Amino acid sequence: MTTTTREVHLVARPEGRPAPACFELVASELPEPGPGEVLVRNIAMSVDPYMRPRMDDRPSYVPPYQLHHALDGGAVGLIEASQVPHLPAGTAVAHGKGWREHALVHGDQVRVLSTGDVPLSYHLGLLGGPGLTAYAGLRDVAEFIAGDTVYVSGGAGAVGSLVGQFARLMGASRVVGSAGSSKKVTHMIDDLGFDAAFNHREDDLLGELQRLAPGGVDVYFDNVGGDHLAAALHVMNDGGRVAMCGAISTYDDRSDPTFHGDLFQVIARRLTLRGFISTDHAAVRPEFEARVREWLASGDLVYRETVEHGLEQAAHAFTSLLGGANVGKMVVRLADDPTETSETELPT
Ligand code: NDP
Repeated sequence: MTTTTREVHLVARPEGRPAPACFELVASELPEPGPGEVLVRNIAMSVDPYMRPRMDDRPSYVPPYQLHHALDGGAVGLIEASQVPHLPAGTAVAHGKGWREHALVHGDQVRVLSTGDVPLSYHLGLLGGPGLTAYAGLRDVAEFIAGDTVYVSGGAGAVGSLVGQFARLMGASRVVGSAGSSKKVTHMIDDLGFDAAFNHREDDLLGELQRLAPGGVDVYFDNVGGDHLAAALHVMNDGGRVAMCGAISTYDDRSDPTFHGDLFQVIARRLTLRGFISTDHAAVRPEFEARVREWLASGDLVYRETVEHGLEQAAHAFTSLLGGANVGKMVVRLADDPTETSETELPT
């Protein structure tokens, strides 16, 4: 019987890309749930780009992480002990206390998951925040309509790989993606069904967009910000829509977030640029989940994970994500998933 558990603390605020010394693995006594609480054995945790700005001591839409406290973020697991009658031991749940092997969570802070159809870790990506972000961002924020030409940056990552595929499945006339390696470019075209893609680390952004979207872009789904957004403004069609989802190119250094682009293009081309946070779009979840499950069942949707193993690898997984080491969703496996069956194996 386990009596101790571990969690990752932030012990120094990073300057630039976080160094290993910013993180510390801390052991503690395994807690017991109090009234209204459940103790969850985390099976997998998420590392996400938004965690980087939270490591700075700067207010944003989520409060900064506190030094010498456990980090937090999305996680999935199984309830081990419960003081909530409708959440018995064995229930699979998603919650917000990642970066630890066990989580003490209030019963109203968990989302009960179905088991047996997909691996639990899919609820961190495809059926979790990134999937909802892609779906709501495309449908409600960019107001995608069939026939649109869509450009998505970060196109091989968790959100971007789904944006490109959702756009294809919803009738885009052309889907163009960018990502940071030739391997990712091949993956987007050969596996995900993008019409065209380019490598932002080697190619000229504007030149490639003009070449690969000769009829212009109706929807730009921006995961990167900075130079990607600046280039995209020059290829948008009149009335084009930009879903401003993320600005990862600025996350390591927010000291001078000045945008170097020609915003006159927004006027001249009658563009709409709209920022959004996926948690504001929870109402679309039932529709989103139903469509994703249909696309998965029909084999029309490809979903990839990049998996690191063990809590000791969590900080490394996070910095690797920022550096672009992931294809699809980056997750950290903390324990075997006992709900996985042959029906829930990852499609390749
Ligand atoms: P990804 O899986 O896409 O991983 C991040 C990727 O960003 C890396 O793999 C890397 O890929 C790319 N990247 C890193 N630095 C740069 C850079 N300087 N220029 C271009 N690309 C870079 O992460 P997510 O899918 O989880 O998130 C994608 C974006 O969506 C992020 O900006 C995130 O903050 C945002 N987001 C917003 C949400 C919202 O509610 N608004 C919710 C969830 C995510 P590569 O090799 O291609 O460079």
